[in-house]
Order: sequence, then C-alpha cells, then structure tokens
Amino acid sequence: MKSAVIYARYSSERQSEQSIEGQLRVCNDFAARNGLRIVGTYIDRAMTGTNDHRAEFQRMLSDSDTPQEWEIVLVYALDRFGRNSIEIAINKQRLQKNGKILISATQRTSQNIDGSQNLDGIILENVMIGIAEYYSAELSQKIRRGQNESREKGNFVGGGIAYGYKVVNKKVVVNDDEAEAVRTIFHQYASGRVAREIIETLHEQGLSHRGKQFLPNAIYQILRNTRYIGFYTHNGKKYTNTFPSIIATELFNTVQAMLAKNKLGSHSRDTQFLLKGKLYCGICGKKMNGESGTSFTGKANYYYKCATKKKKSSACPKETVRKEEIEKLVVQTTIDTLRSPETAEKIADAVVSIHQRRWQDKSILHLLKEDRDKKQKALKNLLSAVEEGLLTPTTKNRMTELEEEIDILNGKILAEESKEANLITKEQVIAFLTDLPEREPQIIIDTLIRKVVLFDDRIEIHYNFIEKPEPDEPDGTSPEDRRVIPFSFQSSLQSRVPPP
Ligand SMILES: [Zn+2]
Repeated sequence: MKSAVIYARYSSERQSEQSIEGQLRVCNDFAARNGLRIVGTYIDRAMTGTNDHRAEFQRMLSDSDTPQEWEIVLVYALDRFGRNSIEIAINKQRLQKNGKILISATQRTSQNIDGSQNLDGIILENVMIGIAEYYSAELSQKIRRGQNESREKGNFVGGGIAYGYKVVNKKVVVNDDEAEAVRTIFHQYASGRVAREIIETLHEQGLSHRGKQFLPNAIYQILRNTRYIGFYTHNGKKYTNTFPSIIATELFNTVQAMLAKNKLGSHSRDTQFLLKGKLYCGICGKKMNGESGTSFTGKANYYYKCATKKKKSSACPKETVRKEEIEKLVVQTTIDTLRSPETAEKIADAVVSIHQRRWQDKSILHLLKEDRDKKQKALKNLLSAVEEGLLTPTTKNRMTELEEEIDILNGKILAEESKEANLITKEQVIAFLTDLPEREPQIIIDTLIRKVVLFDDRIEIHYNFIEKPEPDEPDGTSPEDRRVIPFSFQSSLQSRVPPP
C-alpha cells in the first residue's frame, strides 16, 4: 500500500471555496478508493487581510527534500499548489525531483499513482514527429560546420552585415559613409552625450541608419559591437580576420566602461530568450516578446510581455511573465514528458521509422539540385555579360548574391546526401532524450515546440507538426489545419473536474 499526505488550503478570499473539512473528506474518500494510506496532513488557513504565507505548504515542500515514509501528496485540486500555473508546475517539479508524486483527488494529473506517465496518444505522436525533425535540424548543423570553415577563412557567411560594413566577394570591407556614423557615435558617447543627442547630431550630418533614422537601441548595439575593433565571436570562438577595425581599441574600451555605468545600456545584450517568436498571449493572441528592464538596485530583469500590452498598457490585461520561470517550465515539462523509459522506447522506434521513410524519399535532394543548377546557370550568364564589358553595380551585387546562395545550396545538398550514410539508430534517439535537453534547451524548443500559449490559468505547449506547418500568427489559420495539442498542467486536467 502506498502512503500519502494530504495538503489542504483554505483562502477566505475566494468565493465558493471548498472548506478544509470538505477538502479532507474528498481526499480521504479518494485515498480509500485507490488504496492509499494517509500518514499525515498539512493545512494552511489563510484569512482575509493577512498575508498568504502558506507556512504548512513550505514545510511540506522542505519535508519532501528529505526521506519520508510517504511518496504521494494528495490535494483536493491542483490550484492548491500555487497561485498560477507556473507556480504550480514549479512546485510540482520540486516534488518530482524528490521522487514524490502529486495527485489531485478531483483532476487528472500527468502522473498516475504508481508514478507512471499519463500521456495522450496524440501528444506522443507529435513528440515523435518533432524528434524526427530534430534530425533534420542536425543536417543544418552540418551546413553550419561548412560555414565555420568559411569563417576560418575570414569569409562573410551570410545574414545581415553589421552597420559600417559591406560585403564584396564574400569579404567584409568598410562602408565609408556608415563607418563615419559609427565613429561619430563612439566619439560623441565618449564625450558624454546621451543616445538622443547623438541621434540629433547624426541627423544634422545627414547620416542615416540604412535609410531610416537611428533609434536609441541601434546606438547601443553599435556601441557594444566588437566588430568595430576587428573581431566577433561565434559559438565561443573568436574570429579576428573578418572585420576590419573602424574604432581604436582604446576608445572602444572607454565606451564599454561608460556603458557599464549607464543603466539604460547595461542590460539585455547577451540574453538569449529561448521562447523567442514562440510565445503567445492567450488573451489577445499576439506574440509575447522578450524584454528587459533594470530594477532600482541596478539588477537586470528579464521577462516576456504581450505585444498588444506593450503598445498600450490598457489594451491587454495579460501580466508579464518572468523569463526564467516560463522557460524553465516549458523545457522541464517537455523533458519530463519525454523521459520515462517506456516513452523513450516508443519514441525511438517511431523516430527511426520516420527517418527511414524520409531517407527513401529523394525528392528533397532533387529539388535542391535543380535549384542549384538554375542558379549556376544564371551566374554563368552574368559572367559572360561581365566578359563583354556589361558590368553594372547591380550585376555585381547579383553575382555575389548568387554565389552565396549556391554555397548554401551546396551545403544543403551535402547534408541531404550524407543522410544516407547517417541513418539514425534507436540508441541515438534514446541518448538524445536523456542527454541533450538540459544541455541544449534551445534545441528542444526549436525542434519540438511550435508555440506556447500563455493563458492566465494555463499554458498550452503545441508540439511541432511536420505535415501541416502553420502560419506564424494564430489569427490567420483556419481551424481545420490546426491540430491543437493542449499540454498544460491544468488545461488537460481542468475539463475533467467534476462540479463541486
Ligand atoms: Zn495580450
């Protein structure tokens, strides 16, 4: 017989709150029906006007850190475990880490009494597809490896070129007009001007930010960009042979010291928002974007904020959510879902078969080759135009573009071809599930999660779907090409709550 403790909480501020006695009765009934032995209770009674310290709740959590005769915490409803879904999930995770199980007497929970996972088949299916997708992502890693070789050679590997530079035949050279603006920005800032004043000066001098007026953010980004003293870092590696210097190192260092003192400029540069582009407001449907702010103590705070609310605070009631909390929650939930041995087995089998099916399908390779051949032909035509002396700046740009595009296509073709030699094994998938998520949470989010919708009372994590990709904005979709997989601690559970 398994042993359990009951945690009950009563808050007089809530209407239609179940009394402590009522909660205990329901929990005891549940225990009797399910063969649980109740070995203790923790009870918090919060009265109106007092702080809700939940002392007993805290005691229960810290008890769970040490060996106990019980392994189950039984509650009337999951909301006893926190004031919002994030808090609930974090507290639940702490229990799980301690080998304890949270069970609600009135709702379905993600773990069963015997500790096994409670997974809907559809979720599982989608996770499988998501992992298969991961291995496609691995192909693009191979392409990145190719890019690293280009980096070593000091070539520009694509993407947006930093302000102050331009690309000529894959090499980065100084863009004179822009470089002048960069120098102005550094000198002015070093002499004590603030971003707004610098922007005015640039405007007077007729210097623009690629056709647009400078914004303060752009100024700060420029002030911090090490390319202006001749290097950049990628994946922890420093590349010094790509960008020519525009600013003297001494001036750059002076500016960095000043920036460190300047609150406005001192945060958010290297912060990676894991859920970037994937987090949506459940109330108005718009994206929630990463933001940072500085507290009175000078410490940086990171959070996600609804885009509607950002424009106009009263336009959406969605509260901002702390970056760390939501990211940890999303990643941990996904990891927990993936990790039970039987789940991992099932996923591995499915992934291997999906992978084999895709491997047999050569259509992608054909398409890539076709595309490359077309571009090579176009490039050849331009080359003969050049030989005939018909060179204009436009042809030149187009040629550079084509060369870069062909490079990228060659990488993809290589990756696609090497797929044959790299059929994945079941063991690899299992290793992926056990090993990678904590080290590389971004990979988990990129490959498995299509979007996360944050409601006030629940979070929905939508897993990736290969067959029917969805447009970016949730508004633009018709219901039939959406298969929503609610995977929230509460949403999948709440609907099953019997009326009180
Ligand atoms: Zn909103």
